[in-house]
Amino acid sequence: MTAHLMNSLHHQVWQKCLTKIQESVNIQSFTTWFEPIRPLSLDGSVLTIQVPNKFFYEWLEEHYVVILKEAIQVVIGSDAQLKYLIPKKNNIPQNLSFAKKAPNVDSNNTSLRSNKIQNPFVIPGIQKLKIDSQLNPNYSFEHFIEGDCNRLARSAGMAIAKKPGKTAFNPLMIFGDVGLGKTHLAHAIGNEVQKLYPEKIVLYVSSERFTNQFIDALRNNAITDFLKFYQIVDLLIVDDIQFLENKQKTQDIFFSIFNHLHQGGKQLILTSDRPPKELAGIEARLISRFKWGLSADLQVPSLETRMAIIQQKMDMDGVDLPPSVLEFVSYNVRTNVREMEGVLISIIAQAALNQRDIDLDLAKEVVSKFVDNISNEITVEFIQKIVAEHFDIPLEKLKEKTRKRFVVRARQLSMYFAKQLSNKSLKHIGNAFGGRDHSTVIHACRSIESLLENDTRFKNEVSGIAKRLKSTGV
Ligand code: ADP
Ligand code: MG
Repeated sequence: MTAHLMNSLHHQVWQKCLTKIQESVNIQSFTTWFEPIRPLSLDGSVLTIQVPNKFFYEWLEEHYVVILKEAIQVVIGSDAQLKYLIPKKNNIPQNLSFAKKAPNVDSNNTSLRSNKIQNPFVIPGIQKLKIDSQLNPNYSFEHFIEGDCNRLARSAGMAIAKKPGKTAFNPLMIFGDVGLGKTHLAHAIGNEVQKLYPEKIVLYVSSERFTNQFIDALRNNAITDFLKFYQIVDLLIVDDIQFLENKQKTQDIFFSIFNHLHQGGKQLILTSDRPPKELAGIEARLISRFKWGLSADLQVPSLETRMAIIQQKMDMDGVDLPPSVLEFVSYNVRTNVREMEGVLISIIAQAALNQRDIDLDLAKEVVSKFVDNISNEITVEFIQKIVAEHFDIPLEKLKEKTRKRFVVRARQLSMYFAKQLSNKSLKHIGNAFGGRDHSTVIHACRSIESLLENDTRFKNEVSGIAKRLKSTGV
């Protein structure tokens, strides 16, 4: 591209938009979905961009419309409009205009994720005001897959949604590493309360935004209004509370809002990336209040839960993922759900851009590019899953005491594979099967070995399963 083009206005404008967008999406999504976009022109407040194909356009519209809209409005102004051009095969661009409404935003909720909460401060009669909850309707319980990793937090959340402020779980503190579903779960509770109690005022706010609003209020001499606004809320969700660390004044005001709401029987939900006691820069009096209710953590989902989550996301997007790809991604991406989503999105984008089928080869390419910690090791968990599936028995049976012949066989075979393929100690393997001891594992391996020697059909069956287990490594 020439220097002249690079410097032209629409390039500069788009560059600014990109900087803004970068704040809201992860690197992977940014590289995949925003870098291929070319700015074409700026006509008044209409910015025209070129996207590689229709699929791209649809994906952007479905997943990033809010972020795009926000970025161009910040950079160009509130009347900014975006036009997409898609190069057609015969080189005549196809014209598509910006969707009028974000598809994932319901009609009364169009200011979702807009930079500021609707400013209620200047409006008299605040009590009657309907506050925009800032909830994302896509983050529902229905879309939040249950697993051991989230059972406590999820069921506490459900209980709260039925009786906000009236359970012992007040506040509910959801904590856990990044990308494990804290924000999703918090929204799910909010959405459910809104559904069951439309008259209740629900408000979701990130601690960062809360802090900024507070600073604005300080600057504008509007602290009383700020307090009043927060005190009328029935369910207050404050996300990423760790952001309040070392912000003394914001903590003070939050303390006062917390007390007011709690005393009034209103529900509070907080999230944090660590347990309350590890929030070093937060005052003891606040920490002790966080502990009044329930602290529930979110863990990394198990393989089965990861598969269920991916399956559900793909169903939602109408993408048909071959089982081998589903297995491969859930097996190899184990850090968190957000990363899993990023990898899937890249796979889908690569397939669309290069007009390839989504298959195991493509998945392997993408995963090896994005995930550093690809493991060649086959876990006991994965072995259990594949073997249980093969014999069509529930996975838990492998860990139970059942002496039914076919269950025993499947259990012994899983132990055998675990010993062969997983690098885990006999003790570890025994433990993974409902706390059995190492001699049970040895016995299992011997039984299988002797069967393999004497039964050709069984031998073939076993090598079929082994193949499947190994194909999932990279
Ligand atoms: P956190 O706030 O803990 O960083 P998020 O709530 O933003 O994590 O979750 C990251 C992504 O993972 C979201 O797209 C969310 O929908 C998805 N996710 C996390 N846990 C689950 C789950 N149990 N079921 C379905 N999706 C999940
Ligand atoms: Mg979050």
